[in-house]
Amino acid sequence: MSDERARPGARADGLVIAGVTRMSSCDWPGRLVATAFLQGCPWRCTYCHNHAILDARAPGQVAWQEVRELLARRTGLLDGVVFSGGEPTRQAALADAMREVRAAGFGVGLHTGGAYPRRLEALLPLVDWIGFDVKAPRTLYRAITRVGGPTTAADQAFTSLRLVLDAGVDVQVRTTVDPTVLSDEDVHALTAELRAVGVQDHVLQQVRPDGTTTEYQQALAAAHRR
Ligand code: SF4
Repeated sequence: MSDERARPGARADGLVIAGVTRMSSCDWPGRLVATAFLQGCPWRCTYCHNHAILDARAPGQVAWQEVRELLARRTGLLDGVVFSGGEPTRQAALADAMREVRAAGFGVGLHTGGAYPRRLEALLPLVDWIGFDVKAPRTLYRAITRVGGPTTAADQAFTSLRLVLDAGVDVQVRTTVDPTVLSDEDVHALTAELRAVGVQDHVLQQVRPDGTTTEYQQALAAAHRR
């Protein structure tokens, strides 16, 4: 999961895409975009609502060529492309796809949880905006992502966030508040932790039960009853 060895030169056509939203006004605030959901994610978040997208070995459902053709038809109508997931930075072909999007005159947006800091760092010069998901305060990260050692995911995410902030890329930092793990105090502590590293605007999102496991939906209902 933490294999970050560079695989340079992967072509955009090798991108494994689970699905595409052809027009969205909410994936990049203030922009009208197409959103490509890239297959595979190293984490297993409690509230993940798209389990089919997690398996890195699953085949793609949409060819990059279709996105390419969509952009050609939507020149002047779309502002950009958002690469979402899954964890899009997992795929080595992403850099080439971003270059293509830029060369076609569109903006590049990225949704990431920061699981691969070195890969993210290499992508930063190609990105115009990032929606960065911070899952929890450091000490509770693993309770959400549920893989790796006690601090693995937290270390990856906060290293990535530091890189994004230092690069000065336009970023929205947001947290899906999972009430089965996070108390109100935890959320306040996280906002303070983020402010301390330079994040002024921390957006909180309500967790949605649709698409989550039955087990999680039951835990969520119990948390709401408390
Ligand atoms: S990072 Fe996103 S795609 Fe990956 S498990 Fe968590 S919620 Fe699901």
